[in-house]
Amino acid sequence: MNVFAVMDARSNVNGGKLMEESIRSILADPGILGDAAASLARDADIRLAGVSSMQIVQILMEVESRFEIEIPEDMIRPETFRSIGVIAEAVEVVVKQQSPVGKPPNGEPMDRASTAGTRLRAPGVEMTSRADESVLDGLRASLARLFAHEVDDHYTAPPVIARSVSERAGYPSSFPHLLGEVHGALPGSGTGPSDLVLTSAACHHLYPLISEEWRKELGCLSVEAACYRGEATAETGRLRSFRMYEIVRWGAPDDIAMWRHRALSIAESWLRDLGLSIERAAANDPFFGSAGRYLASAQQSEQLKWEMLADVDDGVNQAVASVNYHKDHFGEAFGLARPDGSVGHSACLAFGLDRLLLALKQRYGSQIPAWPETIRARLEL
Ligand code: ATP
Ligand code: ZN
Repeated sequence: MNVFAVMDARSNVNGGKLMEESIRSILADPGILGDAAASLARDADIRLAGVSSMQIVQILMEVESRFEIEIPEDMIRPETFRSIGVIAEAVEVVVKQQSPVGKPPNGEPMDRASTAGTRLRAPGVEMTSRADESVLDGLRASLARLFAHEVDDHYTAPPVIARSVSERAGYPSSFPHLLGEVHGALPGSGTGPSDLVLTSAACHHLYPLISEEWRKELGCLSVEAACYRGEATAETGRLRSFRMYEIVRWGAPDDIAMWRHRALSIAESWLRDLGLSIERAAANDPFFGSAGRYLASAQQSEQLKWEMLADVDDGVNQAVASVNYHKDHFGEAFGLARPDGSVGHSACLAFGLDRLLLALKQRYGSQIPAWPETIRARLEL
């Protein structure tokens, strides 16, 4: 759920009737009571009306998601979920007590351990509705048009990647705190870390492909992947699972150095055409440890990474896109040989699709049908 819907839902708290209607709308889900919810009396026993235990769990999860609350353990019992009226009263009490889950004040570190056993919604893990997804489709199509003149092919990558590729990319050593691993059954017997890790950056999927014989020339590909990063905080827009759309270009050092400047200005005007106020900033990746601090400052002083920042919430300004000039880092790691035998350079332009959606909602409101006609036309909505 996005923050605007949460705000709408939470603002219902002071109107008891509205809260009741909100709970009724949850029960009106076709998988719970459907149309019968509309005529159910406020104090009628929902179990007698045919709501099963599993459906009560579903109601509980939806209430927590919609109001960004966690129902305390001692309230998770049948009495709390007896009737629409009782649920509405309980939710009002909890909403008044709790700040929204996943939005610690000022991005304070999230204490996952203390609530891990009871939490039904993980911070930084969000779903998108059909309407949200139509915006993302519009963004994808618009980006595909924007780079159609240079992108040779587009790939959709899975949320997992070979551990060996991630290692070659240098991710586990530079960002061990962000890496997500896949555990599972091992050949033979037992369980443990598998040969896969979660995708950390969409572009990692392309380097093995680029290194193949037929890709030796200068080229350009785009890719989208669901990425995982074990972020320490969970303010709006800082997700642990998010979609990244990237354009990756490789070739001779001079070409790539020039391309990243061009990519930056193309991306900036595209974002501005969407009506977003964009700030550009030289940036660095969050490398781990003290060696990492050095890498980060080198990256910043050499201006290898530029971010384009936009407001994704009140007072929350985040990178919605970034350009990274990798120099020969991936060329060395993956053997991106140029026709003359020299090591190829690479750069990527990455868009955070989920953050773009948040930035657009921050700019135009949560009601997508009410967005300005020009923006809706641009996104084919
Ligand atoms: P590299 O090539 O150095 O591995 P990258 O360019 O592929 O990095 P980043 O620059 O770290 O990846 O991230 C790209 C974009 O993904 C960011 O500009 C942002 O929009 C989005 N993004 C990154 N982290 C998050 C997150 N935790 N939640 C939501 N979106 C994110
Ligand atoms: Zn990248």
